[in-house]
Parts: sequence; structure tokens; C-alpha cells
Amino acid sequence: MDEYFDERMVSPTEIMGENESDNPLRPRRLEDYIGQEKVKQNLAVFIEAARYRRETLDHVLLYGPPGLGKTTLSGIIANELGVNLRITSGPAIEKPGDLAAMLTNLNEGDVLFIDEIHRISRAVEEVLYPAMEDFSIDIVTGKGQMATAYHLPLPHFTLVGATTRAGQLTAPLRDRFGVSLRLELYTPVELAKIVTRSAAILNIPIEPDGALEIASRSRGTPRIANRMLKRVRDFAQVLSDGVITLHTAQVALERLEIDELGLDSNDRRMLHAIMKFYNGGPVGLETLAAAIGEEAVTIEDVIEPYLMQIGFLSRTPRGRCITRAGCLHIGVTPPPQADAQLKFETDAE
Ligand code: ADP
Repeated sequence: MDEYFDERMVSPTEIMGENESDNPLRPRRLEDYIGQEKVKQNLAVFIEAARYRRETLDHVLLYGPPGLGKTTLSGIIANELGVNLRITSGPAIEKPGDLAAMLTNLNEGDVLFIDEIHRISRAVEEVLYPAMEDFSIDIVTGKGQMATAYHLPLPHFTLVGATTRAGQLTAPLRDRFGVSLRLELYTPVELAKIVTRSAAILNIPIEPDGALEIASRSRGTPRIANRMLKRVRDFAQVLSDGVITLHTAQVALERLEIDELGLDSNDRRMLHAIMKFYNGGPVGLETLAAAIGEEAVTIEDVIEPYLMQIGFLSRTPRGRCITRAGCLHIGVTPPPQADAQLKFETDAE
């Protein structure tokens, strides 16, 4: 991900120092975790059943765009089970030995969280298979004739894997997860609850419509909502008496150049590029990425999900198209195919 993007106010990825593990805004219990009702209900059953049988919870795969609460959920799982949580990530596990060291240090029942699990190397993945399936690993030490293989039993553990792209996981890895849960973007009402909860924890006075305003501009993502809350607080302290009202939220977010739907200049730039260079689309992902100087993965993981959710962008087999609503939002006349697309979608309903 490029540096510029990382510093965006509306970037759902972590900004340095923002998300330390002692982050007070992270809910610790399932009942404090707002939204994702289906995921929560299922998890509650699996956790309860595992506790009842005194077994470890089956391995869990969490997938969905960044900033939706995957790390938070892994902490909650560990908490609810009363075990320790170990956190690592796919790119951080460089060698099979790194993973072996981590696994042998776990206590019975612990939760091991591997973020960005689609980025682990093949060699590491090979160690993960027997670890997940049989709770054992085979380690080879020495080389050639001096090589010795050890079969090491491991404590029973729960692997929680998180990924923004379940499609990139190899089939054997995916199959080893007993539970697979997809996180969805949050609604403004859910995000307003998260903002209100965070404001209470941080002692920030906020009015309900101020919270809803921040929520509506947070692209369905709690991490963005919490970040915006902190920035809007700065404006509220300087512009008014420190209370976040609808008005202070609006003024602050306008100053931060985030429009009423949470789009920033980069989103608008992409929508304009689809119109200007490709007459509204369809345009292939790589071509579009090159045109706006953004990485294809950034577009796919970060920009697109929200633009699609609000109906500004559609994905067709031939590429991305701007929709009629997208055109109207950025103030350009929709191309004829946007109307045709609309008709097609209405007919299909
Ligand atoms: P991910 O691992 O999916 O990138 P995180 O778990 O790090 O996302 O969540 C980002 C932030 O958003 C956390 O610091 C947490 O405070 C907040 N958050 C996420 N989901 C929820 C939720 N359901 N309820 C309340 N706060 C949440």
C-alpha cells in the first residue's frame, strides 16, 4: 500500500501507533461488540459449545475488508474462552521455524491470531497443515546424512486466521478451518453506536446527531469512525465548547475534505478517471490502477467495497463501471450505458 494512501483520513488500514494492543476502544466481550449480528450469534454458539465440552474451539477464519473488527473479534474469542491470545501476521512469519517456535510456546487452549493469513509462504503453510489438523509438527534439524526428524506434539489451540481476501487462500488451508465467517461493512446506525461508545470511553461529549454524522461518513468501517471521532473532537474543542454537535461534525469533516458520504478526494479522483478516460467504463482493474497511480490491491480491498456498497461502482465481467448515482454524486452527466445498466438491474429485480 502506498504511503500516501496510508495517511488518508478514510484509510481503513492502521496508522502507526493507532492500534496498540491496549487500545481502550476495543470491546473485550461479545456483548460489547456492536453489529455483525449473524457472526456474533454463530460465534456465541460455538464458544458456548466448546466451553461446555471443555474442548478447544475449532479454527476460525474471519474475512472481510480491513478495519471491520477481525483483530478485535479474535481478542473477544480468547477472552470468552478464558485463554491467552497470541497475535502475529502472515508476512511476519518468515520461516517455518518462526511458526514452530510460536506454536510450541502456546499453552493448552490458546488462541493464535494470524492476520493477513493469505500472505504466509508455502513453506510456512506446510507446517501449518499438520499443526491445525493433528496438533503436531515435524521438525528436521541438520542437513544431509546428519538430518534428524522430530515429531513434536503441540498443545491444542485455536487458530483464528484473518484475511481481506478469502479467495487467495489455498483450498487445503481454507478447508482446515471449521468455522468461516464473513464480516460486512457496518450500517450508519451501527457505526453511530460505536462512535457513541468510543466517545463515552474517551470522555468526549457528543450529541446523537453528531455521532450519526460521523458514522455516515465513515465508509461502513469502525476504525475510520473512531479515527474521525478523535479528529472531530479537536475541531469541537477549538470551534465550540468541546461538544460534538451535528454542526461541529459537519464543519470538521468538510475541513478534512470528507464529503457527506465519506468519500475523499481519492475516491472522487477514481470516479472521475473512470468517466474521463473510459467514458464511464468498463475498465479493467490494472488499467484503472495505472491511470490513477494507485495499487490494484488498494483499489480492490479498500476503495471498491464501499463504493460498491453505496451503489456508485459496479463490477462487470469486463471491468469496473461508474453507476448513474456515482455520476450524479460527482456532478457529471451519466453515460448512456449507466442508464442501460440501471435498466438491466431494475429488470433483473
Ligand atoms: P481489523 O482487524 O478487521 O482490521 P480491528 O479489529 O483492528 O479491525 O478493528 C479496528 C478498530 O475498530 C478497533 O480498534 C475497535 O476499536 C473498533 N471496532 C471494530 N469492530 C468493532 C465493533 N463491532 N464494535 C465496536 N468497536 C469496533
